[in-house]
Amino acid sequence: MVIQPFQKKVWLSTPTMHGEEQKWVDEAIRTNWVSTVGENINEVERLAAEKIGRRYAVGLATGTASLHLAVKLAGEKLYGQPKVGHGVLEGKKVFCSDMTFDATVNPVAYEGGEAVFIDTEYETWNMDPAALERAFELYPEVRLIVIAHLYGTPGKIKELREIADAHGALIVEDAAESFGATYRGIQTGNFGDVGVLSFNGNKIITGSAGGILLCDSQEDANKVRKWSTQSREDAAWYQHEEMGYNYRMSNIIAGIIRGQFPYLEEHIAQKKAVYERYREGLADLPVDLNPYSAEYSEPNFWLSCMLIRPEAMCRQVRGDKDALYVSESGKSCPTEILEILARNNAEGRPIWKPMHLQPIYRMNAFITRNGNGRARSNAYIRETGFRDVGDDIFNRGLCLPSDNKMTAEQQNGVIELIHRCFE
Ligand SMILES: *Cc1c(COP(=O)(O)O)cnc(C)c1O
Repeated sequence: MVIQPFQKKVWLSTPTMHGEEQKWVDEAIRTNWVSTVGENINEVERLAAEKIGRRYAVGLATGTASLHLAVKLAGEKLYGQPKVGHGVLEGKKVFCSDMTFDATVNPVAYEGGEAVFIDTEYETWNMDPAALERAFELYPEVRLIVIAHLYGTPGKIKELREIADAHGALIVEDAAESFGATYRGIQTGNFGDVGVLSFNGNKIITGSAGGILLCDSQEDANKVRKWSTQSREDAAWYQHEEMGYNYRMSNIIAGIIRGQFPYLEEHIAQKKAVYERYREGLADLPVDLNPYSAEYSEPNFWLSCMLIRPEAMCRQVRGDKDALYVSESGKSCPTEILEILARNNAEGRPIWKPMHLQPIYRMNAFITRNGNGRARSNAYIRETGFRDVGDDIFNRGLCLPSDNKMTAEQQNGVIELIHRCFE
């Protein structure tokens, strides 16, 4: 059988508008509330706080801006207000998820801090509690942890929380990819001392942009709202006592998010169906899907990903910007599969390249459950076969087309293409 390339591109993950978004955007324009104040923002904040089960939600311009203010808020609680021109984390180390999007960890550097990357575990592809424990042995002075839930799958929250509490550390929880996912029946975004959501264009619901900061104290919420609108003091003129930002959510953007909110659960159900179809369709291949603990968590299935078993990997070498592989019968690799998908008009994506492998973070410490993850020689890796977990998943894994509007027929085509790679 010859497969024809898809006539309509099969995407990784695209926005899905339902019509109600238009109503709230029009309402904002009709009533002239098009700036950073208005009913749509109030309503999005109310809906987000209610959904996640937190007392306060603050609407901000992006998930990245929300992460920045979340890190700053946690930093000021720990270390006090910095002098103007200085970051709140100067001279401080912060433990961070390693295998994630760089927006999770960059805010630590915005504030002058030094990220120490914590390796990943295989059960959920999130921060490894054993590596975090090890990191506290090496750096007992650390008081802040930034944790992401990758691809919509909750991490080992209970274990991570217990370690944080034992060391008096605060957690910033990046739930940008996992909005709507639950862990022991509780929404992600609820567990961190500060939580963050994103409504970027390819997330599970979107406002084209937008972010939310979640917290439980009114004082914190007011502080973040003030920072996000240039830190104006309550005075007759523009009076400034601390550094400000232009990070507030627009009431137009909020209108789109407001219109999307009723469809969150529907999108999750569609994404879950995509994941289940891959699980069935790929069951006969030497691959596994991105795992989760069915006992403790219900992911939002934002992206379906695939991990090739070690014995079924053909040779693949990745440089800084390109990759080579040697095609082998019965084996494949992410580079080959991504190439075949692209050639057939379908969009996959490599796994997030771990932060400790990124050139901008090459000087930062990286901790695995065995200790210093930078100390191993190539000879050690050859002998033991142990790369770190993040590097291993990056090498053997990829994100599959996971659009909620992908038809079963298109998905069967993708599954067939993947089978071809292993012939
Ligand atoms: C998308 C994303 C962000 C950033 O959100 P934006 O709204 O695009 O700024 C942060 N962290 C993770 C893990 C993300 O996937």
